[in-house]
Amino acid sequence: MKVGILGGGQLGRMLLQAAGNYVVETHVLENDPNCPAAHLCHHFTKGDITDFDTVYAFGKGLDAITIEIEAVNVEALEKLEAEGVTVIPKPSAIRTIKNKVVQKAFYKEHEIPTSAFVITHNLAELELHKDFLPAVHKIGQGGYDGKGVSILESENDISKGFDAPAVLEKKVAIKKEIAIIVAMNTRGEITHYPPAEMIFDPVWNLLDYQLSPAILPEKTLWRAEAIATKVVKELQSPGLFAIELFIDKNDEVLVNESAPRVHNSGHHTIEGNYSSQYDMLWRIILGYPLGNTDPILPSAIVNILGADGFSGSAIYEGLEEVMAMDNVFVHLYGKTQTKPGRKMGHVTILHKDYQDLTYKANKIKHLLKVKA
Ligand code: ADP
Repeated sequence: MKVGILGGGQLGRMLLQAAGNYVVETHVLENDPNCPAAHLCHHFTKGDITDFDTVYAFGKGLDAITIEIEAVNVEALEKLEAEGVTVIPKPSAIRTIKNKVVQKAFYKEHEIPTSAFVITHNLAELELHKDFLPAVHKIGQGGYDGKGVSILESENDISKGFDAPAVLEKKVAIKKEIAIIVAMNTRGEITHYPPAEMIFDPVWNLLDYQLSPAILPEKTLWRAEAIATKVVKELQSPGLFAIELFIDKNDEVLVNESAPRVHNSGHHTIEGNYSSQYDMLWRIILGYPLGNTDPILPSAIVNILGADGFSGSAIYEGLEEVMAMDNVFVHLYGKTQTKPGRKMGHVTILHKDYQDLTYKANKIKHLLKVKA
């Protein structure tokens, strides 16, 4: 079976690593011939994943196609789907999710709990919604990794908003941020992974590390699982989806956003769960039964980011010591060049004891530095 992946970043790379267990011919489309996935696939095509003709030509001879990022040309995927190529997730699901305005409206239409919102078309319109603040302004398309999200505490912050179609949503008093990965195959069978819990650095508001399974009261867990499952059922598409949720101070569960693809919050499933998110997506694409999502042991993820003040050929300081630690798995994405904040890899830690996970996560954060 010939399967194409749109995008050749680290998620594509890990998806290709898992493809090694199956009989599949892999194709990647990506502009950068030195991207993390370029050398792990059978056929690499250099090209723009947002261009109709490029995506259509890439997909034409394939049996199936999937994505590692939602910023792709959906029209080309629709045409390929109409011509018999299996597209996972369905282009309609990508269309709903890739624009945050459409995504929010979808939650409302399907009565999926999410923070209250209004849609704004330009910066001037924000002035009309002063009463709605404090709120979070999110650009409809083109935002990622926190870019495209602006917190507006009061009317003094209005200039920090976006002069483009965007969602203005009520600021949630967040107690916890969790993510649940849900998988649905072409037979409509559905399963999910245990939630992962994001632990943020309160000073920088960056993800510090992640723990899984999240520690939640049973009722909150059931509610979160039911909501995440409902999102995927309503999208009516096979595929693997990451549903990011807020638990607020009153223990209400709200959907923040969804991703129709393998996700950063699921890296730990490679070692931490019987079937990883990457293995699961291959099962779905190739038409096999769903895998077992049970955790083997609780796990933590620490991201390896380029250190501040260093740009150039990457040097991994502290790698020897981290590699020598028990039940610690280092994943480097093969990027030769570092710059401040660039995602260069991640480390997964397994242990039955959460205290040990937290201790090791902090230790690794301090030991491992990417310099140049
Ligand atoms: P991105 O797609 O760039 O990751 P998100 O929509 O996930 O953007 O927002 C980034 C972060 O901003 C979230 O992880 C959360 O901490 C904060 N945030 C987003 N929406 C809200 C909200 N409605 N209320 C409070 N905080 C929010």
